[in-house]
Amino acid sequence: MSSQIPVREIDPATDDASNKKKKAGNVDHYANRKKIYTRSVKGFFQRIRFVSLWALMGMYFLFCWIQVGGEPIIHFDLPAREFHLFGTTFFPKDFILLSGMLIIAAFGLFFITTLFGRIWCGYTCPQTVWTFIFMWVEEKIEGSRNKRIKLDKAPNSASKSVKKASKHAVWLLIAFATGLTFVGYFYPVRELLADLFTLQANGWAYFWVGFFTVATYTNAGWLREQVCLYMCPYARFQSVMYDEDTRVVAYDYNRGEPRGGRKKSADPAELGLGDCIDCGQCVQVCPTGIDIRDGLQYECIGCALCIDACDQVMERMNYPTGLIRYVTENELEGKPSKFLRPRTFGYGAALVAMIAAIAITLVMRVPVELDVLRDRGQLYQMNGRGMLENSYTLKVQNMTEVPQTFRISVSGPESTQLITRDEIQLDPGANRTLPTVVEISPESLTQSRTDIRFRIESQGQPPLSAETESRFIGPSR
Ligand code: SF4
Ligand code: SF4
Repeated sequence: MSSQIPVREIDPATDDASNKKKKAGNVDHYANRKKIYTRSVKGFFQRIRFVSLWALMGMYFLFCWIQVGGEPIIHFDLPAREFHLFGTTFFPKDFILLSGMLIIAAFGLFFITTLFGRIWCGYTCPQTVWTFIFMWVEEKIEGSRNKRIKLDKAPNSASKSVKKASKHAVWLLIAFATGLTFVGYFYPVRELLADLFTLQANGWAYFWVGFFTVATYTNAGWLREQVCLYMCPYARFQSVMYDEDTRVVAYDYNRGEPRGGRKKSADPAELGLGDCIDCGQCVQVCPTGIDIRDGLQYECIGCALCIDACDQVMERMNYPTGLIRYVTENELEGKPSKFLRPRTFGYGAALVAMIAAIAITLVMRVPVELDVLRDRGQLYQMNGRGMLENSYTLKVQNMTEVPQTFRISVSGPESTQLITRDEIQLDPGANRTLPTVVEISPESLTQSRTDIRFRIESQGQPPLSAETESRFIGPSR
């Protein structure tokens, strides 16, 4: 019997434990959605998810409130075009760093996916995090899987209405907190809170808080697995990163089949059965409603809940655990499996190279910018002291968190000097344009175009400086 992990499409809309209705290739893409009632399960992987999901949720809700030196640790100040991240301010010119970070995130995701499949989806994706919280609330209010099924089938009553209303009220509250927090990363959250409730906030703030409230409530409360199945592009293209050595959640077909019910005391070998007792627990815990025994499916988000469920069944039956486990296709076929292989080296090398490039850029980043533009209106002019003058416009930006005083100097042939202001004070994040004139004695010029160098230097600690080249134009020689 083949132990290949067949990839085929499955109708996810079922809570039928035996999943007998499904037939390979028989997919109705327009079938009505059938509500999935997941059974809760405890176990090793669920504990990991519990910690990771609550930790991520906690970080999301807290980070916009934490301030260091009066500034939120994460604040995207769009009107000022400044992004404050953990004490460092980034400006539009740092966009390359942001792009680099996104590329690192993408390569990191590809690298992890080639090794462990959809770890991101199962443990950290925002859709998974919020759906997990919403399902947790649902279970606290409406009860276990069986109670929820019964409640939905029961005729309308006061107690049913109270439960449903309470659940939706808590969902809306979480969704509102989510929307408020999201906007709080762009609009200082304390001000936002005060302004929203005193009706002083900008109209866009109301719009975006409302938008994210509705989006969260709809995605995590109603759409849930539909987002993963039909809306998420990553679910569709991630299979190109898989190979037969990718460790994924899979059912050990050789060990489990033929499946069938039996008494705990029965010897499966005598009955001609494998270890799967066909209890359907793995299907009932699955948030996307699939049967992992049908093979690797794009609907599987790699949450490992079916592993925990099946391990509990195996322990109760006194069978070894791991009938469903993290395993590679090669291992299931009894072949040796490699952890590191060309594609992991490829993604790993790209990831390390990008991290190194961004780290070097960050370390070398000087938080001051100097741009020099030569005045093209006139080539040069002779002043009353017989010196040649050229005019420039200096643009200076202070990209630090403190006020700075910069000294401006210019170097070039002997006698090069600045005859305008040589000092400028700038507030944190501020930039200033400064008209500047440089003079050079005609005797010092050996050619019509001479390189000169502008430099700004701060008086503070640590001292900051920036330099940039320009041209001084004189008469033709
Ligand atoms: S939980 Fe395990 S034993 Fe039960 S149906 Fe699933 S694979 Fe078979
Ligand atoms: S099949 Fe298992 S790992 Fe995949 S989504 Fe369902 S419960 Fe999670």
